[in-house]
Amino acid sequence: MEQKNLTEAQLTQYEAKEHHLPHQEIAGHAKKIIHILTQAGYEAYLVGGAVRDLLLGLHPKDFDIATNATPDEIKTVFRNKCRLIGRRFRLAHVYMGNAVYEIATFRGGSSGDLLLKKGQIIRDNVFGDIDEDAIRRDFSCNALYYNVESQTILDYAGGVEDIKKGELRLIGNPDNRFTEDPVRMLRAVRFHAKLGLHLNDALKKSIIKNRNNLKNVPTARLFDEAVKLFHCGNMLHAFDVLLELQLFDILFPNATRILEKEKQLKSLLYRAFKNTDHRLKNDQSVTPVFLTACVLWLEFLPAYEYVLNQGKNPHDALHSATTLVMEQQRPHLAIPKAIQNGIRQMWLLQLRFKKMWGKPVYSTLHHPRFRAAYDFLLLRAQIKPELEQQAEFWTNIQTMSPEGIKSMVFGKRIKRKKPSSEL
Ligand code: ATP
Ligand code: MG
Repeated sequence: MEQKNLTEAQLTQYEAKEHHLPHQEIAGHAKKIIHILTQAGYEAYLVGGAVRDLLLGLHPKDFDIATNATPDEIKTVFRNKCRLIGRRFRLAHVYMGNAVYEIATFRGGSSGDLLLKKGQIIRDNVFGDIDEDAIRRDFSCNALYYNVESQTILDYAGGVEDIKKGELRLIGNPDNRFTEDPVRMLRAVRFHAKLGLHLNDALKKSIIKNRNNLKNVPTARLFDEAVKLFHCGNMLHAFDVLLELQLFDILFPNATRILEKEKQLKSLLYRAFKNTDHRLKNDQSVTPVFLTACVLWLEFLPAYEYVLNQGKNPHDALHSATTLVMEQQRPHLAIPKAIQNGIRQMWLLQLRFKKMWGKPVYSTLHHPRFRAAYDFLLLRAQIKPELEQQAEFWTNIQTMSPEGIKSMVFGKRIKRKKPSSEL
């Protein structure tokens, strides 16, 4: 389908009887916030992902709200329940129950705090009306406003029809919209993978053309987006699309170079993504440490071998190689320190898993990163049969009694070879 160059909003309203949005699934606190804002004389709607996901029959991850109240006015209404955040894009966070609700003021208009650098939006605090706000949003399915009072959907960009057709459509001209904010390219892949909405060829072409603009985005924001992709629930497919559109290379250039040559390692990543998708489907916890460690493992292995060959012992080599990998990755993605530490521990445990006797077994077993590291060992064993014995040992030990473990790790001495330094 051809991209429309949509510059003007056209409102289509869907009354309660004309749509199937399950009103009862909206968080009570979100309804309350909207009610408080409307009581105070403002317009307020549920917007974005929540409306989209509810129409698609999914459970929204959060409930975003849009209003014509400015951030300062929102603060006046909610006082100490409200915090204003962001500089690039000022928003209000309202705390209610155990959750935080994001309230955005309608963007648009012609005057205010808008800063562009080579067509890229650096700061956007220009406030406007709902119809102006709608066409500033990224995709038509994200530009739907739900009036909780009348249960009406306001659709300014044809989002309802696009959802019905299963199409992910960017509002306006793709080249312009991707230049304004290159992160929209990663969002496109995420929504496509997560929601099953079709990415048409024109959109794909525009992504390939504009992909290098992602290098101008702050690397901390890119890491956040990478994690959202990792945890979108269908990273197995998102990975293929990221490779096809040459976006994975922007996030992880060194790992991408390696996976093109090493088919085994590529299959390790497929297994890791499948594992995380599966955990999310089963409501199991996930951590950004795991998949980041799996992806960077590709470049860690040659770095470790390189440092070992310089004569360092395995433990020191592991630390040096980890530091090297983190330094090489830094210009592309800003991985927070806590995540870096988690990755280091997960890799260190791969070395410790080789020691299957004596006291070290206990400290490995009780290490806070044991779970993630063990899952990773299982994945590695699937592509490297030499690791099967280790995988079996660490699997069995988890179900053994304390006495059983004791007799196994201190019991009759079996002559064992000193573990090699190879991982
Ligand atoms: P989810 O929360 O499920 O990841 P979402 O669509 O709600 O998806 P958010 O990042 O929570 O995404 O943003 C809320 C809404 O703000 C979006 O639906 C969209 O309308 C708008 N939005 C977010 N990021 C952008 C962007 N980079 N450009 C334009 N609009 C955006
Ligand atoms: Mg959201």
